Parts: sequence; structure tokens; C-alpha cells
Amino acid sequence: MILVLEKGISPRARRQVELALKRDGYAFSVLPGFERRILSVRDRPGHDASVLPALPGVERIESASSAFKLVGRDAHRADTVVQVRDVAIGGQRLAVIAGPCAIESGEQALSIAREVRRYGATLFRGGAFKPRSSPYSFQGLGEAGLKILAEVRAATGLPVVSEITAPEQSDLMARYVDVLQVGARNMQNFELLKCVGRLRVPVLLKRGLAATIEEWLMSAEYVLAGGNSRVILCERGIRTFEPYTRNTLDLSAIPVVRRLTHLPILIDPSHATGIREKVSPMARAAVAAGADGLMIEVHNAPEKAMSDGAQSLLPEQFGQLMRDIYVIAPVVGKQVDFDYLDKAGRTVGRAAKRRKGQADVAFVGSAGSFEHKACGQYFGGRVKTLGVRTRRAVFEAVAEGAAEFGIVPLENSLTGSVHANYELLLEHELRIVGELTLRLEYHLIGAPGQKLSRVRRVLSHPHIFDQCRGYVERQQWELVPTEDEATAVRMLKRRNRRTEAAIAGRAAAELHKMAVLASGIETNPRNYTRYALVSVVPASRRRKGHGKAAKPCKSSLIYSTPNRAGALHDTLRVFSRNGVNLVKLESRPITGKPWEYMFYVDVEADLDSEPMRPVMKALRAKTDFLRVLGCY
Ligand code: PEP
Ligand code: MN
Repeated sequence: MILVLEKGISPRARRQVELALKRDGYAFSVLPGFERRILSVRDRPGHDASVLPALPGVERIESASSAFKLVGRDAHRADTVVQVRDVAIGGQRLAVIAGPCAIESGEQALSIAREVRRYGATLFRGGAFKPRSSPYSFQGLGEAGLKILAEVRAATGLPVVSEITAPEQSDLMARYVDVLQVGARNMQNFELLKCVGRLRVPVLLKRGLAATIEEWLMSAEYVLAGGNSRVILCERGIRTFEPYTRNTLDLSAIPVVRRLTHLPILIDPSHATGIREKVSPMARAAVAAGADGLMIEVHNAPEKAMSDGAQSLLPEQFGQLMRDIYVIAPVVGKQVDFDYLDKAGRTVGRAAKRRKGQADVAFVGSAGSFEHKACGQYFGGRVKTLGVRTRRAVFEAVAEGAAEFGIVPLENSLTGSVHANYELLLEHELRIVGELTLRLEYHLIGAPGQKLSRVRRVLSHPHIFDQCRGYVERQQWELVPTEDEATAVRMLKRRNRRTEAAIAGRAAAELHKMAVLASGIETNPRNYTRYALVSVVPASRRRKGHGKAAKPCKSSLIYSTPNRAGALHDTLRVFSRNGVNLVKLESRPITGKPWEYMFYVDVEADLDSEPMRPVMKALRAKTDFLRVLGCY
């Protein structure tokens, strides 16, 4: 909580207040920068704090969240997403800032930037003004370093982040960089905070070396109070008694900050640990704990780095970390997108090119459904979606140009392939141009205050009943199929019957202001659906390319073989002989031809790559039917 002292309180009265707090066992600190009028006081469970305002000199007592007039959740319920050129910081896609501690030369910066971009970084970092502990250490290249950053942005498309250490640098910095970093040492440099508050450039505010979360948020409050609401918080470790790491990474700041403020939070495990081998484990943990992104120091020759070499990852280590968090992110409802910038360039550019009335992406259902979430996670929040009623309508919307893309589920980890969509893919001349995996966590949803024991009928999509079979079968419920799960929640709300509930994701409950009656009711928590993005134009014609991506390309094929012994085996040998890795093989009866089968095959290879050319040639000879569904 926050104790606000009266304006002009005498030093004696202030001392009395502090003594009274100590006497009652309250831990507190004075938040600097507010004429020493604001005390951050730690709550004492079981202690009645309502008596504190009666102390002479105390103006009022506030909960921490209401003291944060602008950064607090009360001021702004929804999470803030800070847009930096094409990159959204906050929301459902992770933003990863990577680069060296300091810009040392044009060559160094560009070569590191190219590598981190290839591995999926979305912003580039590098200090030009370095706040160093020793005056004899490298202090940064100054304006020359900023020029290099601007060149890196022009060459790679990566927005750039750099630290501002004094208000006098602000004009210069604003000319060259996309995000101004306020470093740990300057978190309570109030003149600097006021200065960046006046600018129209996003601010990355690091937590001070020994700052409490409240002090940190009060510093953010300064920037917002100055008129700049684009603030990104960054936890980078605090100083403790533990010498094994440079600082102690306070990951618990993530849930605390989430509750107190709407601002996005990034984690910097590089400065937190100070030791290369400790960076990736803490980065993985940060993603699992719900961070909006990471800031990682990467250097191509860390042994020669002018600063912080010992904590800098090598580019390949950074690449491995990106692959790890690509896997972890969907577990907590987020995504890592290796093609983020290329895609953003296309979709953001599209807004201008979009044909009149044309949507970016069609999906089955309505806002709040997982398919709707998949659209947002694939393209970011700025996408124009078109909800339709059936799967067929998605394909038709794309084929007829009502939407440029369609998003459809292809397979679920509990219930297998969605064959209807494979068939629709065969029927329409559309290609798969991308994919996305979502973890589907289902909840039983009802009206606020509704009792679970009274539920008799449950509404949802039949696929969802399948994925929740273990839970649903234990109940005596009537199951009512609906077009999609968000529609089920909408109907539930409209009908307002206390004996009905719906199964859907949390987003649907929040959107329709309904309550969760039971959580996590899917049969197995490892419940993932892989969605395909389909379009008329193949992916290869869209790709601009900035070198090989971290994630291998995938190609999807469907074929049938002649009905003779060894025919399937002959086709499979073609893949193994050419060293092409199969990641999916499934057989499926051909509609109208009993006991004849189609094979769905996914391979980890680009259709145009060296090993795939002989594969395709041989397959054409050995199959009766062959269709490329896409390469993405
Ligand atoms: C940096 O990012 O290089 C830096 C100096 O960070 P911090 O302010 O967290 O020490
Ligand atoms: Mn550094």
C-alpha cells in the first residue's frame, strides 16, 4: 500500500510517522522523486492498516494499484500493446530484442543483426552511450553508434533499441532509434524520466539495481505522467547477497506486475545472471512465467566484446534458445514467430492494398473462439478477420477473394486429423502457406454465481466434446452441438438459463462477461491443435527472405499409389534415399472407393530444395495421384 503524507509536512512529523510504522512492524521505503511524501508500505497480513491515516501528517492511504494513477490496472483494464514499427510488444506474440551490449563497429553490428534476425529476433539492441561502472571502460561510440543502428535497421528491417543516459541526448536518440532504453542505473533519474515522458518514442524502462516493484512502477508513472504512454517494463535482476550470479533474477515480478499494471513486461536474463550458460535456462523460465518477451545480449566474438562478453550468447546459442521458446510459448498461450517481420511487412502493407471490403483472414466462428485467437496469433492484433459459419465457407471466402487467407484446423493432438479440411483442401485450388499451433485449454462456462451442480445441458462444438470426453462422460449432461464454442457462450448468455453451460476457452468467457465454473477440463492438458493458413497464392511467391530461417521449411503432400504389393514402400524409399525427414504420414480412405487409401505426408524440406527435386520426380512416376498442399 501507499501512504501519502501531507504537503509541506515537517521533518519532525515525518519522523514520527516513520517511527510509528517501525513500532508497528511495518516495512517501508520512501519513494524518491515525490518530495519524500510517498511511502511504500508493505502490507502485514492480519494487521489493520486503516488506523494509519489517523497518524498526524498522513494525508491518505491508498492501495498500490490506485496510487499508480496511469500505470495501474484501474486506469486501463486491458493489457497495453506497445507498437514499435511492425512489432507489437505485449499481446500474444513474444517480442525478442537481441544484440550486443555495445555497438562496436558497423560490421560487428550488422553481422550480429543478420544472425539474430534469421533466428527470429524482432528488434535489435546495442548501446551507443554506455553507463559503465568504471570511467576507464569503453563508453560507447556515441552518435557514430546511433548511425550504425539506423543502418542496421535499414538493412534488416529490425527496429532498434538503445540506451539514453542523459536528457541532452534526447534529440539525437529520437532521430536514430525506435525504442529508448532507460537503464537500471537511471531508473530513478527523474529528470531523464520527465524528458523521455515528453518524447513520442517508446521507452524500455529497466528495473533499478535495488528498486522495489512499486518504485519501478512509480518511475513508469513519471513517463506516463509526462504524456508518453508507450512504456515497456524490463526486469533485469536485482542486487541480493548471492554472489553466484551477477544479480538475482526476480521472475516473480512478472505475475506481480501483471496484476498491478497494464504495461508489457520483458525479461533480460543476460544482465540478471551475467553468465552465458545461465542465460537460456532463465529465458525459458521467463517465457513459462508469462513474460511478453525477452532482451538477450548476443555477440559473434564474445571473448573480444568491449562490454558484457561473458554474458553474451553466441548466435547459434541464441538460435537454440529461440527454438526452445518456440515450443514453450504455446503452453502459456503465446507464440514465437520466426517470420514475424516478413509477415508484418506483408500484412501491414496490405491494409493499404486491400481490396475494398476484403478481409485479411476468414475463420469459422466468432470472436472469442480458438480459431479467432489463431488469426490474432498468426498476424498480430491488426488483422481484419471475417467469421463465417462453416469450414466450406472459409475455403470459398478465400477462393472467391472475400478474404486473402483462411485459417483451418488440420489436426489435434488428442483427436487426430480434421479430415474434412483435408478434403476441402483437395476440392479447392488453395495452398497451405503457414501453420500455427495453439494449446487448447477448455473451461466449463456459466453465468457469474451459477452453480455447477445444477447444470443439465452443455453447449459447444462437437470436436470440443471429443477433446473433453473424459470429463463430459462422467456427467449426465445433454450435449448440444453449436457451430463454434464462442457462439455457444453467446447463446448461453442470451438464453440465461441456470441449468445450461458451455465449453470454451477463457477468451470467450471474458468477452461475454461470463464465469468459469470448472477449469482445464480437456482430457489431457497436452491438447494442441495445428492450424493451417490457406491462400490462393503459394508461400514461395510471397517470401521476401532474409536468409535461412531457424525453423525448417515444411511441405505437405497428398498422394495415392497403385493397388499392388510394395507400392507405398516404394514411395517411402524415395524420401529416405534422399535424406528427407517425414514428420507425418497418415492413410485415409478415398471417398467413394472402399478400401483404397490416400496418404497424407508432411516432410521437413522446402519443395524447391536440392533433395526434394528428385523426390518429386520419383513420386510423380510412382503415384496415381499427387497433390502438393503447400510449402511453408
Ligand atoms: C544494458 O542493457 O546493456 C545495460 C547496461 O543494462 P542495465 O541497465 O540493466 O544494467
Ligand atoms: Mn550490457
